[in-house]
Amino acid sequence: MTAKLTGTVAIITGASSGIGYATAKALAEQGASVAVLARRPERLDALVAEIESAGGTALPVPTDISDRDQAEAAVATTIDRFGRLDILVNNAGLMLLGRAADADIDEWEQMIAVNQHGLLYMTKAALPHLRKAAGDDPRQVADIVNISSIAGRTAFPSMSVYNMTKFGLNGFSEALRQELTTSYIRVGVLEPGKVDTELDSHNTDEVITEIEANYGHLRMLDPEDIADGITYMVTRPRHAAISELWIMPTEQS
Ligand code: NDP
Repeated sequence: MTAKLTGTVAIITGASSGIGYATAKALAEQGASVAVLARRPERLDALVAEIESAGGTALPVPTDISDRDQAEAAVATTIDRFGRLDILVNNAGLMLLGRAADADIDEWEQMIAVNQHGLLYMTKAALPHLRKAAGDDPRQVADIVNISSIAGRTAFPSMSVYNMTKFGLNGFSEALRQELTTSYIRVGVLEPGKVDTELDSHNTDEVITEIEANYGHLRMLDPEDIADGITYMVTRPRHAAISELWIMPTEQS
């Protein structure tokens, strides 16, 4: 396969595990130089080593995206190193489940801080650079891919605040898409169903048992399935934008 992203630069948030890790590798395979963001530096170093040993180019940028200064600094570091930014994949996310009446408000705030504030800080800092790349070779187009969820389309008990963060992400993305059409910055959301990652592991044992009872029987998606979808979105011809992509395990109702 010919590399379709040669000469481009991508930022992937939440790249230390799961979907972000697989996406960084997939975009690097397509020739993009990738800046990989998350809080765990040792995971980022392992990812960068893997990408570089396959002949790719990657930069670890340890970042807590819920901190506005760190998010802005991560974009600045990427520009300092690579000189441009063509693709932003807002993937970092947190899912802490439980009935609203019993929930810990600190957990709600953590989800909002990562899934919404972090995404907004990253997007705002990236926009001027994406705008510039969209007016430049090799593609004359730039991309923002926001990782939403089936929980951005449908509400479920025990997911209320996670639902809120993902429904909100979808609304923000569609408004931004309409604002940026003439700038040739494509804004798309990708909504996965159940993917086999570390996402559930931050919950209590009781919640994890409940998740396993609901989804344990499924052949879940692999992170690479979502990375494929993201790669598809950012490798369309300039005139074609995938505004929404919903990827489900075949067995998930
Ligand atoms: P993981 O838990 O494997 O990955 C989450 C990533 O987010 C990690 O790399 C984590 O890195 C990073 N992260 C969390 N908090 C922060 C922060 N404050 N600053 C920077 N990075 C942060 O889960 P997934 O790969 O599954 O999740 C990726 C996205 O996919 C999320 O937005 C999630 O909501 C969405 N999604 C997942 C589904 C699933 O079934 N797995 C289904 C639908 C959507 P670190 O801890 O090192 O900071």
